Amino acid sequence: MTDPEDLAERVRDGDLRLHELEEHADYDTAAEARRLLVERETGTELEAIGDYTFPAERADPNIENMIGAAQVPMGVVGPVPVNGEETGSDGGAADGEYYLPLATTEGALLASVNRGLGVLRSAGGAEARVTKNGMTRAPVFRVEGVAEAAETVEWVEANLETLREAAESTTSHGELLDIEPYVVGDSVFLRFAFDTKDAMGMNMATIATGEACEVVEAETPASLVALSGNMCSDKKPAAINAVEGRGRSVTADAVIPGELVEDRLHTTADAIAEANTRKNLIGSAKAGSLGFNAHAANVVGAAFLATGQDEAQVVEAANTITTMDAREREDGTTDLYASVSLASLEVGTVGGGTKLPTQSEALDVLGLRGGGDPPGSNADALAEIIAVGALAGELSLLGALSSRHLASAHEDLGR
Ligand code: NAP
Repeated sequence: MTDPEDLAERVRDGDLRLHELEEHADYDTAAEARRLLVERETGTELEAIGDYTFPAERADPNIENMIGAAQVPMGVVGPVPVNGEETGSDGGAADGEYYLPLATTEGALLASVNRGLGVLRSAGGAEARVTKNGMTRAPVFRVEGVAEAAETVEWVEANLETLREAAESTTSHGELLDIEPYVVGDSVFLRFAFDTKDAMGMNMATIATGEACEVVEAETPASLVALSGNMCSDKKPAAINAVEGRGRSVTADAVIPGELVEDRLHTTADAIAEANTRKNLIGSAKAGSLGFNAHAANVVGAAFLATGQDEAQVVEAANTITTMDAREREDGTTDLYASVSLASLEVGTVGGGTKLPTQSEALDVLGLRGGGDPPGSNADALAEIIAVGALAGELSLLGALSSRHLASAHEDLGR
């Protein structure tokens, strides 16, 4: 077996480069050699980082220069009650009660989400539906000016089938849904949208778009400048994702009887509705926020870490809109209508980080590891369950704010 000490020395001497170690040793030895090097160079001990439990080779598609693993505590909330089949004509992909694994370092988060879920269960559950699905990639092309831009757009619009054929030749699952053109001076952006089924789909959509771009370049005056022209828009806060959606657009809602709001959240539907209007709507508008919610990204981020999603895409999920309305009943009492709409939740149950050991176990807990039947149904279900989790988080936090015990909950649980 290759000696990790020897490998670390060779890197230090400039004989080997940090990323070349796997060519000279197995993956775990390569990681150990890097740890030794970093320990010596920085005067640290990487005992915890090196104490990972999966074969380093399994992480090969997910990381370069591996030295170990970051361990984030994982907990579980639930059951998450999702009424997928109850009223809708098409039904939802998720239906039933699910335990949702969440990984975070924020004390009080799971307790808060669980409190909201308890309220939702007592209220008979929440409805959730994916209302739109399309992973986007928007390449940018250079043209001479507006005449060539118009010529390019016209050709693309008239030849959607040719472009679909090219794009779909690269994937057995992906389907091209649409291409939306945008022109800015001598730049043409083509926003491709794909149904990527159970994959989050960023690699799939990028590869398929690249193939279609070759056809666009061959048939029009446009020259490709960048395969991603930022109108996609990946991992950046962007209004286009909030308006048009990206990945899954998913909404969850529930009606909470007034008595439950009082008994369990110690406040009233009117007080929660007012807190939501002044904080999530007016406050967010005044702040120039793209998101109109209390902390949807908290649940999304923790679910992403637990289930192997691309954590940088939490930014796209932060544009969630939360609504809370008091609805008067015939008997004069008031119920609470609560909803969250996540316009751009990018999730998958195959590919990316979902294959890693702890992440795929977390997907097993949800019964959603791997491809769904029909394809796309597992990722739809994951989106719906996360949306109900986010709804629970919103309910609990707005309830806490309206009953004014937010600071004490954090003091008791998180510090
Ligand atoms: P991927 O791991 O690259 O590919 C997943 C593949 O799984 C699909 O291409 C598909 O193969 C196959 N597959 C099997 N069963 C499937 C099913 N039921 N539904 C859908 N696909 C199925 O994953 P990805 O989701 O396309 O991309 C995610 C990765 O991209 C993450 O690691 C993320 O960090 C990374 N990422 C890439 C970019 C980029 O610009 N390239 C940007 C952001 C993030 P076929 O296509 O052959 O059908």
